[in-house]
Amino acid sequence: MYVVQIASECAPVIKAGGLGDVVYGLSRELENRGNCVELILPMYDCMRYDHIWGLHEAYKDLGVPWYGGEIKCDVFCGWVHGRLCFFIQSKSQDQFFDRGYVYGGEDDPMRFAFFSKAAMEFLLKSNKRPDIIHCHDWQTGLIPVMLYEMYQYHGMERQRVCYTIHNFRHQGNCGNEILEATGLNRPDYYFHYDRLRDNFNPFALNLMKGGIVYANYINTVSPHHAWEARFTDVGYGLGHTLEIHQSKFSGILNGIDYKLWNPKLDELIPFEYDVDSLTDKAKNTKALRERLFLQDADKPVIAYIGRLDQQKGVHLVHHAIYYALQHNAQFVLLGSGTSAEVNNRFLHEKYFLNDNPDVHLEIGFNEELAHLIYSGANMIVVPSNFEPCGLTQLISLKYGTVPIVRGVGGLLSTVFDRDHDPDHAPEKRNGYVFYQMDNHALESAMERAIGLYYDYPKEFEQLVQQGMECDYSWKNAGAQYLNIYDSIRYQYS
Ligand code: ADP
Repeated sequence: MYVVQIASECAPVIKAGGLGDVVYGLSRELENRGNCVELILPMYDCMRYDHIWGLHEAYKDLGVPWYGGEIKCDVFCGWVHGRLCFFIQSKSQDQFFDRGYVYGGEDDPMRFAFFSKAAMEFLLKSNKRPDIIHCHDWQTGLIPVMLYEMYQYHGMERQRVCYTIHNFRHQGNCGNEILEATGLNRPDYYFHYDRLRDNFNPFALNLMKGGIVYANYINTVSPHHAWEARFTDVGYGLGHTLEIHQSKFSGILNGIDYKLWNPKLDELIPFEYDVDSLTDKAKNTKALRERLFLQDADKPVIAYIGRLDQQKGVHLVHHAIYYALQHNAQFVLLGSGTSAEVNNRFLHEKYFLNDNPDVHLEIGFNEELAHLIYSGANMIVVPSNFEPCGLTQLISLKYGTVPIVRGVGGLLSTVFDRDHDPDHAPEKRNGYVFYQMDNHALESAMERAIGLYYDYPKEFEQLVQQGMECDYSWKNAGAQYLNIYDSIRYQYS
């Protein structure tokens, strides 16, 4: 099968969160299974160009219709760790992708509407006719809309779209200027409740809703989150739309790429190890302490890695730091805030804790340091408000770092409480789970984890090993996506 992935991120070349990991990992799995996979991405100025091999111009002066005129683009092509990627560089005065950031512009809907339009023009004009176009999140929600409403009449009538939603919180709300810019026009038609009109704001279009309505298949990234999105508030207003389109909606649990995330093969950590050589993990703990100027003490290192954002339960992250320090543990945080307010709060905390030899807060995004922390920490906290899948707990399990998670979304589907889990036998359990969104709930799980570490070290090691033996590779998800592709491939549009 010929699959083209269109996305705003692909690890490691451009990654703001889990989306980048998923786009890369799924593409590799699909290729390993004998499919032809290509990726289309924006050409950001802030990409890790050192991860692109053989970058060269593939299409010069691609004319992309925009507001009745056109914007010229150059399309570059290169390999990102073996994946063939096309990067769209616009020559617009708006400098859509030359701003030193991936997300965060006030005109983000316009930037990614342009990217979606350019990606479709590129497919059309370069005569690429994939069986499946797989697009992701609100940034590419317009792809199925444009395919169905425009491009199928220009020779793309056989292409089918799978649309994956990684996060319902960000939906791409915008005004009707997007319709004019992309040439979709007809505001009366698109502002209909059955099409793109936002479910709550009658004056806004919702790009994610467009993706849901028009794609041939939609999924989110864990079965439990698929249920939550339909029936609870974490669908952020799209529950009814999902209900209407339930026959083409499901949840598929993400995997992680065990070539990139594997303590036995990881070149970014000082000591490689596996389930049979855990003493080498302890050497990484020592290296982590040295790198972050923590004292070398016989205490467990508890970590947090992730965006510092309301979704991630930042107030509980904050509480976890102090709880760890009060209970004879060390704490390492690596995170970047999505708002200045949260960033400043943690910067303030960093300043306050600066002289404490048991804690280090690193505010920013640092892929290399993330690998060292996964390998050196003993436990990781993931106290999310909601979590569609979550990759940090999956990576932690592989690195023998015991996850302490809140029981929501994908966390609930992947972490099984050591002490209480009605569905999994003790030898299948791999971490700690708490449910309420308050300090006491978090403390109850942290207390049990720290207690086991100190009082029953053999049992703690056993829990570490059980986690490392879990298989959260792309094998399962790859097979499920291929089944979906197959089921929509010959579907009548
Ligand atoms: P998200 O909601 O951000 O997509 P996930 O758990 O699905 O959360 O994926 C997060 C990914 O981003 C993981 O690979 C994690 O290691 C990485 N990550 C998050 N924050 C940072 C950071 N500050 N530095 C390095 N890697 C990070």
